[in-house]
Amino acid sequence: MKALYRPTWANINLEAIGYNINQIRKRIPAKTGIMAVVKADGYGHGAVEVGRKALASGAEWLAVALLEEALSLRKAGINAPILVFGWVSPEDVHIAAQEQVTLTFFQKEWLEAVNKQELDKPLQVHMKWDTGMGRVGIRSADELDAIVEVLRQSPKVSLTGIYTHFATADEADLTLFNEQQERFQTLKSMFEFMWPDRVNYHTGNSAAASRFPDHMYDYIRFGIAMYGLYPSAVTKKEHPIDLKPALSLHSRLTHVKEVYKGATISYGATYHANSTEWVGTIPIGYADGWIRKLQGVEVLVEGKRMPVVGRICMDRTMIKLDQSYPIGTRVTLIGCQGEDEVTADDIAEKLDTINYEVACMISERVPRLYGVDF
Ligand SMILES: *Cc1c(COP(=O)(O)O)cnc(C)c1O
Repeated sequence: MKALYRPTWANINLEAIGYNINQIRKRIPAKTGIMAVVKADGYGHGAVEVGRKALASGAEWLAVALLEEALSLRKAGINAPILVFGWVSPEDVHIAAQEQVTLTFFQKEWLEAVNKQELDKPLQVHMKWDTGMGRVGIRSADELDAIVEVLRQSPKVSLTGIYTHFATADEADLTLFNEQQERFQTLKSMFEFMWPDRVNYHTGNSAAASRFPDHMYDYIRFGIAMYGLYPSAVTKKEHPIDLKPALSLHSRLTHVKEVYKGATISYGATYHANSTEWVGTIPIGYADGWIRKLQGVEVLVEGKRMPVVGRICMDRTMIKLDQSYPIGTRVTLIGCQGEDEVTADDIAEKLDTINYEVACMISERVPRLYGVDF
């Protein structure tokens, strides 16, 4: 039995993942390792496949947002170290300890609750410092003092890393970024005074790592750029490293017709043909994450741009064609065809959002194919 019947798919080019890792590897110092960020199913690219490729390309760690994401990597047989960024309930930390998944912590109460748990194996943790992101993490010297005090009395907990996250590393104005670096350095100096054992430090996301590679301590947390997308317009323009997008999104014409002047297309009859026109139908819609706000965006057919006409339906989208094409003709919604390319950035711009969201919004219903076509 075939697994797929509908000709709509995302093609994930794992060679591009390897290429992007090589580009950052060449830019950061040899002492700095790479943590490949594969949260949210690898930004929609497939966490297991991307994770394996990243590890084979020189990444040493994987990082995810949720414990369940870490467990699904373990289930797939990935034995590399994994860091969970998010908060995990103390009740569940025994699972992380069992599976050798490193957790993030930033509350003294959390540590105290963990100390009351039965753990067969030591729990590895990284401490999060909030140097200006305002999301999670300890913020002051007093908090650091208090948490280190509890840490000293936590025999089942092994502190192996400390990190922070930048709020504006991808922007032109680096005021806050520089402040965050200073706060991190200050806390680090204090901490080293209190704690004799060596721990790993990491601060940089894709933007910080590619722009300021010499300030990256022991690891970088490499996310969006690994997928071949620039973190922002500023970083795209600066082009500190060369990137190849890994994801492309395709469908095929499943219906082609000629309509006459005045004919209307789709729900609400919002589109009226101005003259005799060719209209094609592709089997992708908002249930695939190809959302209604994309009405009017252009897709590629035979290397030429064709607009989406009428409302996008749950499972189908109509496009205006310049001529008749055979059923089965490939339509590229994100990616290259011939000389032209529709990028995730083009889609993000149309939606008034960022490429990160475009990668994540393509729903699970769209199969991810690795280097093969439908
Ligand atoms: C998502 C995330 C990253 C990766 O950021 P990119 O901008 O995608 O490189 C790094 N660190 C943390 C804590 C994150 O949540």
